[in-house]
Parts: sequence; structure tokens; C-alpha cells
Amino acid sequence: TAHRIHNFNAGPSALPLPVLEKIQASFLNFNDSGMSITEISHRSAKFDAVLNGAIDRVRRLLSLNSDDHVLFIQGGASLQFAMVPMNFLGPNDTADYINTGTWSAKAIKEARIQGKTIQVIASSEDQNFSYVPKTISCTPGARYVHVTSNNTIKGTQFDQFPETFEIPLVADMSSDIFSRPLPMEKFGLIYTGAQKNLGPSGVCMVIVKEAFLETAEQHLPTMLAYKTFAAHNSMYNTPPCFGIYTIDLVLEWIQETFGTLERMAEHNQRKARMLYDVIDGSGFYQATAQKNSRSLMNVTFRLPTEDLEDRFVAEALENGLGGLKGHRSVGGCRASIYNAVPMESVAALAAFMERFEQEKG
Ligand code: PMP
Repeated sequence: TAHRIHNFNAGPSALPLPVLEKIQASFLNFNDSGMSITEISHRSAKFDAVLNGAIDRVRRLLSLNSDDHVLFIQGGASLQFAMVPMNFLGPNDTADYINTGTWSAKAIKEARIQGKTIQVIASSEDQNFSYVPKTISCTPGARYVHVTSNNTIKGTQFDQFPETFEIPLVADMSSDIFSRPLPMEKFGLIYTGAQKNLGPSGVCMVIVKEAFLETAEQHLPTMLAYKTFAAHNSMYNTPPCFGIYTIDLVLEWIQETFGTLERMAEHNQRKARMLYDVIDGSGFYQATAQKNSRSLMNVTFRLPTEDLEDRFVAEALENGLGGLKGHRSVGGCRASIYNAVPMESVAALAAFMERFEQEKG
């Protein structure tokens, strides 16, 4: 493992080393099958155990109700932008959206492409998406309120979810699922691409309440209906087996290392504080997110000039710290410190940042 670097990629991103080692060790002969996980039948008992094991871990970690559904769907979170309005908005329905940046905007766009009626009830565009709106006013009768819980590009996050009273929240949690406990009673549906906190790209996890699913539209293409995935335990067709297997191992790692999401959240808070302390204590680094909206997953910051930012990213890499360039749409720097990024990596980055400031500041 000497050649592995501190990985601050935004996604795909770091996976826990013990998980990677387990995959490597079992790759040629998965669970005494004489085959790898990518070669066994998805209809076999051995794969059934993987799928149901992963679902069971999701249920336990989030204390789901027995009739909540855990689904695995391909097409990434981007397909969910379209599937949510397709499944939950009929001709006379309306839904509310909160716009906190690129990913919310894409969700809004996909609803409108289908001609659905939606309202953008809150937006942080007025301040360049540097915060998340804390209070909202929902449209009476709205079927759901859509929210992006963590904004991967701008580095903002809802620490508390907005009060929607009886209206279920639909949340894109692609970049912070399992980073903290969730008030599950507020949600109708949660979706999350796997490639940040869960596993490899190519699989998207969806949690949907039975009561919410019951209200879904009928007459949809089979593979675009949540009900298909729920009725067939995500096995209507061949599921993304390797991705689901990795998710099972990542969740096992969370359970064995941290036990609960409360403990996971404390760990994430300590990691994030280490970096924000360096930023706040310097006149050199500037956080781009407002203090009350800062993400614990994506720490975004600027240096005094773009030239210094380029040198920061390059010199960091020379020092074994990778993936620190900000998203191409916003520039600057970004350290993604998802669940699997160890404290040592964050400490190494904090030390490098202080050194760089002393030399160049
Ligand atoms: N939502 C959020 C919050 C994201 O960060 C991303 C990807 N970075 C997406 C959606 C899109 O995910 P995918 O590439 O799986 O479609």
C-alpha cells in the first residue's frame, strides 16, 4: 500500500482500504464459488446473500421500517433526476424544489423537460450558492419537496433539513449518505449515486417509503418505475452485482469501525474541523461556503491567486495528496473528505496547507 496516495477526489473517490483488500483477496474465488463476484450468477444463493446482506445493513444503519424499500438502480443519480418526477408527478400534481447549485438545477431541469409542474420555492443563487436556505415555505398540496442534502461542487450542506410539515422530502444524498444519522420520518425517498460514500460508480441506491411508493404513477416504462425494482427486489433484470457487493463491504466497514452513524458523524466533524480551522486561522486561504452552511464532506476554498491555486494542487500531489482541484465549473480548491478518507489523510493535508502558507503566504 506504500504507493497509495491521500485521495481527496470528489467522486469516484476513496474507498476504505480494508474493503479494497477484501475485494482483492476474494476476487478470484468469491466465497468458495470458484469464481469472482463478477462471474457468478445474479440468481445464485451466493449473490442473494450479498444483495440481502447489503439491504439489511442499510436498514440497520438507518433504522428503517420493515416496509421501507432499499433499491439498486443503474443510471446514476442523474437518472433519478428524471425518475422522481416521472414516478410521482401526474398531470395535476405539483412539487417544490430547493435550488442550491448545479445538481439541484439538473434535477429541476429534468422535471421541466417532462412538462411537469414544479416550483422553485427557495434558492441560494443570489449569493452564488454559498449557503443553503434554512427556512422555506411549501406550496400547499405539493407532492414532495426536493432537496440536495450536500452540494458537492459548492461545498455546502444542510445540517438540519427544512421543515416541510406533512410534505415528504425527496433528497439527493449522493455526496453525504451514511455520513450522519438521518431523521427518516421526514423523507419519502432518498437517492444516492454510489461513487462517493458507498462504492463504485454504476449503481445508485434508492430508499423509498412504502406509503410514498404506493402513490407512484402506473403506466411507466418497466425499467423507469420504482415499483418494478421494489416488486423484484432490484432483480427484474441483471443488477450491478459488483457495485452491490462493494456497498455491502463498505457498510460492513462502517458497522465494524464506527458502529453507528452517530459515531461516523463525530468522526466526520473532527476531520472537517481540522481543515476549516486551518482555513479560518489563515489570511491566505478563504472558505467559499458561508459558515452556517459548510459541508463536512467537501471543503472548498480559494487561494489569493489562480496561479497559487495551480501551484498548491501540483505541489500537494508531489507530496502524495491528490484530487484537490476544485470542480471545473467553479475553479479553486476542494478537499473531499468522505467517510473513507482517514483522519491521517486529513491531518497530512492540514499540515501541508500550513507549510504552503508559510512558504508562499
Ligand atoms: N448529485 C450530486 C450531489 C452529485 O455530487 C453528483 C455527482 N457528482 C450527481 C448528483 C450526479 O451523479 P451521477 O454521476 O451518478 O449521475
